[in-house]
Amino acid sequence: MRLTRLETFHTEFVCFVRATAEDGVIGWGQCATYNADITAAVFHRQIAPWALGQDCRDIDALVARIERAEHKFPGSYRNRAMAGLDTALWDMAGRRAGRPVAALIGGSPGPVRAYASSMRRDLTPEVEAERLKRICAEQGFTAAKFRIGAEMGEDRDQWEGRTEAIIPAVTAALPGIDTLVDANSGFSVSRAIAVGRMLEDHGVSHYEEPVPWWDLSATRDVADALQIDVTGGEQDVDLGVFKRMIETRAVDVVQPDVLYLGGLSKTLRVARLAAAEGMPVTPHAANLGLVTMVTMHLLRALPNAGKYLEFSIEGADYYPWQQDLFRGSPFAVNDGTLSVSDAPGWGIEIAPEWLDRAEHRVSEEGAQDGGAYARLYHGVLEAGL
Ligand SMILES: [Mg+2]
Repeated sequence: MRLTRLETFHTEFVCFVRATAEDGVIGWGQCATYNADITAAVFHRQIAPWALGQDCRDIDALVARIERAEHKFPGSYRNRAMAGLDTALWDMAGRRAGRPVAALIGGSPGPVRAYASSMRRDLTPEVEAERLKRICAEQGFTAAKFRIGAEMGEDRDQWEGRTEAIIPAVTAALPGIDTLVDANSGFSVSRAIAVGRMLEDHGVSHYEEPVPWWDLSATRDVADALQIDVTGGEQDVDLGVFKRMIETRAVDVVQPDVLYLGGLSKTLRVARLAAAEGMPVTPHAANLGLVTMVTMHLLRALPNAGKYLEFSIEGADYYPWQQDLFRGSPFAVNDGTLSVSDAPGWGIEIAPEWLDRAEHRVSEEGAQDGGAYARLYHGVLEAGL
């Protein structure tokens, strides 16, 4: 089944992809958020030319083909753009089969336990504790995450003493609720271990990115020194790095972001590596774009799914761009859970009004322009592979 048309609809923040096959079946996907206008350009230059005209049913093989063709561009933007193709083709596969994606990868529709995820460091410990207490009570969450340190902070706190104050404040406000923290690479090893002991004393169960995320040996030093689960992986896009992270047990819980990483197919590969070592996967999903829906389907299918879905509690004041992306309420919360429906594919519909306002670009089979690099290299790929 040949892929004949790839379209993007983008703003600076969001880029949706519509894939169309020769039989007219379509699928909707999304590239990773932020700088989505740049990602759309990468999509049409470096992803679409290798995908159009190919069999769109073997998604793993197509992703692997593009990775071979664009192997000199292993980084973030190629993977952000690849995620748009991958997730559109999984949606198409689900629509063609009349089944949700979760069912195509060994799972089923149904509920997913979520944790209330705060993105904010600008709130005082008292205000954040009250806010999380209210949201958990109103929506039934049984787990919540708050922020400590400063993002990439090199041991500087958001303001002096905030970390030491917010740990007891939030944990005291949430009795019976599982508590998680995210340090966003904020600490040195010694400071991370000292903060980790404080987290353990207060019953916190998940300690995310304690030290700079790229330093696997430093992360492992922290994990080895503490009982609390040390977690990470949201920034990583290289399967070789995930392999080292898992084999050396640099973390206790692996946290790929399905859209940063390049889509569902690559995330399933990471999940299998983790499963082989008996490690759970609790993906990163920090906004209410498609990343959260893909993660819901994934968690309904993984044998080594972590305990919960990350569910951002931030609204229009923090994420104005995530308003009105979809028709209906795909992310409705009931008693602290979200639900994967039995609708085909991802079970979502992009809001037509949003698409009308977005910038639209089309690549079609036979007319695609991969630029000089792709034109030069295409023959090499076809001959060599
Ligand atoms: Mg994080």
